[in-house]
Amino acid sequence: MACVSFPYDAPVSQTLFDRASLVTPGGVNSPVRAFRAVGGTPRFMVSGRGPYLTDADGREYVDLVCSWGPMILGHSHPEVIAAVQEAVARGTSFGTPGEGEVALAEEIVARIEPVEQVRLVSSGTEATMSAIRLARGFTGRAKVVKFAGCYHGHVDALLAAAGSGVATFGLPDTPGVTGAQAGDTIVLPYNDLDAVREAFAAHPGEIACVITEASPGNMGVVPPLDGFNAGLKEICSANGALYISDEVMTGFRTSKAGWYGVDGVRPDLMTFGKVMGGGFPAAAFGGRADVMAHLAPAGPVYQAGTLSGNPIATAAGLAQLRLLDDAAYAKVDAVSAEIRTLVGEALTKEGVAHTVQAASNMFSVFFTDRPVRNYDEAKQQEAFRFTAFFHSMLSQGVYLPPSAFESWFVSTAHDARAVERIAAALPAAARAASEATA
Ligand code: PLP
Repeated sequence: MACVSFPYDAPVSQTLFDRASLVTPGGVNSPVRAFRAVGGTPRFMVSGRGPYLTDADGREYVDLVCSWGPMILGHSHPEVIAAVQEAVARGTSFGTPGEGEVALAEEIVARIEPVEQVRLVSSGTEATMSAIRLARGFTGRAKVVKFAGCYHGHVDALLAAAGSGVATFGLPDTPGVTGAQAGDTIVLPYNDLDAVREAFAAHPGEIACVITEASPGNMGVVPPLDGFNAGLKEICSANGALYISDEVMTGFRTSKAGWYGVDGVRPDLMTFGKVMGGGFPAAAFGGRADVMAHLAPAGPVYQAGTLSGNPIATAAGLAQLRLLDDAAYAKVDAVSAEIRTLVGEALTKEGVAHTVQAASNMFSVFFTDRPVRNYDEAKQQEAFRFTAFFHSMLSQGVYLPPSAFESWFVSTAHDARAVERIAAALPAAARAASEATA
């Protein structure tokens, strides 16, 4: 841990964290929220409006996490809230099919051409877990290829060399995942097509699928090199395996059609979450109709969910997606570019080695002057500088992801005032990063 002092200025959050720690492991319901990578008191938020969050101590922050991606219209968007209120008034869960889920599925299918059919679930983890099961059921094969630093949720078989919280905590492997569960997972370096070819050569007829983040954001933002996704698709097709593009993070964020809208590489299956739920637990997996036809009750591969297609979640997701037109993406892309430039300029001015990497409007800052193409390179950054940078920004009212291995997210609500507040905080944060010691 770097030598950073944490101004103890969040007494109510600290009290809540103490209470939480008594009844919840580590005091949080998702590990990165605990601030362990950066130290200090996790802020307990009580409300969000537009680009701002307010914590339990009454302090307002410009939010550059956006609930880890979903809040692309900012917090409490009036039309999303209205759709939720209208849906809530009609009841919260029926356990039957409903029109809202049909409309959401139609919206997804209309936006993303390779998705011919889609199944709604409640989390990104469920989406990737189900997509993998379906790929195995469809191909009759066991092995799965994934890439180091890519995170696909906490699916047992996919927790090998995962990014996000697993990267943040430097966990080599997760206790509780047995050899049998992870034994069919082949972990390869990201952006390395030769490694993929070698894996297929070493396991002929055994690999069910390759799953990859469409453009990874869980080891920081590390976009695919030109031709990488197309190469994956080609290798999968040539070997009778399915190409699964995990768009839980990039879907409906990096363009109207997610990363598919950027690189046009046609996956066999895709997974979605985050933005499509409008801040509620909604996620999905979908793709080729002939593959999806293997899913119960149409086919033999079982998959289910008590709250799948929940009417509140689908109403929120649909309202959010319908507001996400070309103008909205242009706005998010522009504000992302503006903030990236400001961050780069501030760090350059203080002589801090850094590389800002972006995938459309997703971006992150690596504290190294070399481009980062895979997880090994991401780990070589001077993460202790991020810790100092993070705390300086936090103390000045800018909320960044509490880890050097996460994407930053912006929204259509990040206006000139929010950007000015970020700009005002950057010089001191850059200085703190430059003065930080390991
Ligand atoms: N896939 C990717 C690419 C993700 O970024 C995440 C979560 O961050 C997941 C899957 C898991 O989604 P969830 O947290 O909704 O289970």
